[in-house]
Amino acid sequence: MARTLLLPRQAWAAIAIRTANLMAVSVMASVVLSYLILNIFSQGINETGLAAAFIAPLVLGGPMVFYLSLKHQELKFAYQRLEEAAARDSLTNCLNHGAFVEAVTVVLDAPDGAGGALLVIDADHFKSINDRFGHASGDTALKLIVAAIRAPLTELEIVGRLGGEEFGVFLPNASRETTRIIADRIRLAVRTIEFEAGDEICTLSVSVGGAVCSEKMGFNDLFRAADERLYKVKKTGRNNTDIVVIPKRPANEAIVPDQTRHLLYRGQKVRKA
Ligand code: GH3
Ligand code: MG
Ligand code: MG
Repeated sequence: MARTLLLPRQAWAAIAIRTANLMAVSVMASVVLSYLILNIFSQGINETGLAAAFIAPLVLGGPMVFYLSLKHQELKFAYQRLEEAAARDSLTNCLNHGAFVEAVTVVLDAPDGAGGALLVIDADHFKSINDRFGHASGDTALKLIVAAIRAPLTELEIVGRLGGEEFGVFLPNASRETTRIIADRIRLAVRTIEFEAGDEICTLSVSVGGAVCSEKMGFNDLFRAADERLYKVKKTGRNNTDIVVIPKRPANEAIVPDQTRHLLYRGQKVRKA
């Protein structure tokens, strides 16, 4: 019963519409059938018969139809909730890897797709956070990092956990300048985190690699370009950002459709969108 009350308003509207529609059909069928039967086997339908044909399905079928519609909506709602939960990483509440790749691919593949920017954000020396302060503190640090990543973003950007201490942000239609500004805001926001681990105040940093494209592009290619930049930042000292702009294809070069059955992430398969 408690779950029923949690149904959103649209679900109650759907239940009402479904019940009303089914009841209208039942009443019509009942009236037509009563009319035919009484005309064929008796002297036709009178006012009492008509009223009975009208009221009987409402009284007998109404509660049942309402109950079934309610159960149908509850199942639909529960299924939606399950799907949403399955797409999220339980620690950080970001999209999980597969859901992130799917969401970004939808934007990149849109018929009027104008590309966007992918940031690959990796926490620096994160293993030492776990080693020094324990895994639970590491988990707290990851949640704080995600809060810092989200700080400069709006609802339009897509945030996902690519794995471990690595996150992805997709900025639809972003220019190089916007991407550079947002990447640096994220880096600075993480840098200013101070969290208590035991008796110590611990600071964090991230390295950010980014790739910007201004036309349709496969996720794998965009990721590879951003990941190369991340690798460069890691090699040159960390706590920094590096963004590459992917040049537009020449007009006569066709887009090769992605024939792979799976999207790849560092050689590993993830669900194809
Ligand atoms: P680098 O700057 O080169 O990225 O160094 P790093 O230590 O961050 O990278 P490395 O790949 O050596 O270690 C990643 C660490 O992240 C190791 C792993 O225990 C930790 N980690 C991954 N996922 C989680 C998690 O969910 N919780 C915690 N607490 N730690 C995690
Ligand atoms: Mg790391
Ligand atoms: Mg890593």
